[in-house]
Amino acid sequence: MLSALYTDKENAFRDEVRRFAETVVAPEADSIEESAEYPRGLLKRVGEAGYMGALLPPAYGGTGKGMVAETIIAEEISAVCPMLDVTRGVTSVYFAPPVNKFGNDEQRRKYVPPIIAGDKIGAIGITEPDVGSDTAGMKTLATRDGDGYVINGEKRFITNGSVSDYILLFAVTDASVKPRKGMSAFIFETDTPGFSVVKDYDLMGMRGLKVSHLKFEDARIPASALLGEENKGFTILMDELDTERTSLAAGAVGYSRTAFELAVKHSTEREQFGRPIRMFEGVSFKIADMAVRIDAARLLTLEAARMIEKGLPASRQGAAAKLFATTAAQEIASDAVQILGGIGYMKESKTEQIYRDARLMTIGGGTAEIMQFLIQREIYKERGY
Ligand SMILES: Cc1cc2nc3c(=O)[nH]c(=O)nc-3n(C[C@H](O)[C@H](O)[C@H](O)COP(=O)(O)OP(=O)(O)OC[C@H]3O[C@@H](n4cnc5c(N)ncnc54)[C@H](O)[C@@H]3O)c2cc1C
Repeated sequence: MLSALYTDKENAFRDEVRRFAETVVAPEADSIEESAEYPRGLLKRVGEAGYMGALLPPAYGGTGKGMVAETIIAEEISAVCPMLDVTRGVTSVYFAPPVNKFGNDEQRRKYVPPIIAGDKIGAIGITEPDVGSDTAGMKTLATRDGDGYVINGEKRFITNGSVSDYILLFAVTDASVKPRKGMSAFIFETDTPGFSVVKDYDLMGMRGLKVSHLKFEDARIPASALLGEENKGFTILMDELDTERTSLAAGAVGYSRTAFELAVKHSTEREQFGRPIRMFEGVSFKIADMAVRIDAARLLTLEAARMIEKGLPASRQGAAAKLFATTAAQEIASDAVQILGGIGYMKESKTEQIYRDARLMTIGGGTAEIMQFLIQREIYKERGY
């Protein structure tokens, strides 16, 4: 199945990443879950292995392997440690590629290589206390002042926020027009005076991930922090989201796969009524449905990834992949808990963790309802309505 979908080179790359995930990441996954400590050292090893540069050019230390390779990395790392892949994705997929695409040479040289190496950590700051799905309603202000900007506002739910060195920060530069026409993107360095971490949230799942509430009070940044043109930030935001969603979808395929494998194994080993529980259709038909959903999620993700790689508009495909893969992941995680029975609900079983981890992804990166909104909008647009 996999070999038919992917080229030989892609399959070989998957084998390589899987070996890394199993030998380097897996041994640390349980202690991250237990301690909820941010795995900075492990992220650095991901960088050293070259898995933070698939979307970035060799000139800055990337591998330039492209979006399909990125989805392979996301799937394989998520399969053993979902939170590690989220922090990896935020720094190397959401932060660095927009800097590479919209930045000038100086910005690329300064910010991209340390992110790829895992020496510095990036974040993306869109969401605010009053602004979630409606990103165009943003309130954080960047006021022009002499040769720089002064930032005032708050961002919340920012992944990597408290551990980040740089934030791809979206703020309003022209409040007299609609935010989508008056929003700009900045590379904000977190050692800037006026920046503070209000708190890190205590999360339902994805233990170890730092998701923060951030405050900007008269934080002064130089004009050179502007990414792209002033008031053109909304274009950068929209461009970034297709890749983000496709990578998140691939991650969901990864942890779905782990929950599925645990359920398959348990259903052959556990006996009730004198036979393995897989002999009951109430169990084995669930296994069939789980497998089909994983295959379908991977196909949608691969389609979006190939479109992005070809430079084709992929908003519908990225949204569809994320909607399907993340919804399916929650159903699959729930079915896995069910198939394991009581032990599936216990902390000692990985299904319990995946069930909680998976719950995030129909919210973060745009909710399932917003994905449905985007998909229907593209459908009508494609037909000229
Ligand atoms: C763990 C975590 C990490 C995150 N990381 C980041 C990050 O790194 N950077 C960042 O900027 N943001 C981040 N977010 C924020 C995330 O993108 C938002 O939570 C998400 O976009 C939803 O916004 P909201 O929470 O304000 O919900 P709201 O927008 O208030 O939505 C509440 C409910 O209303 C529904 N709804 C809203 N509008 C519509 C509509 N038009 N049609 C139908 N239903 C609608 C939503 O689907 C949802 O069910 C993160 C969130 C979490 C939970």
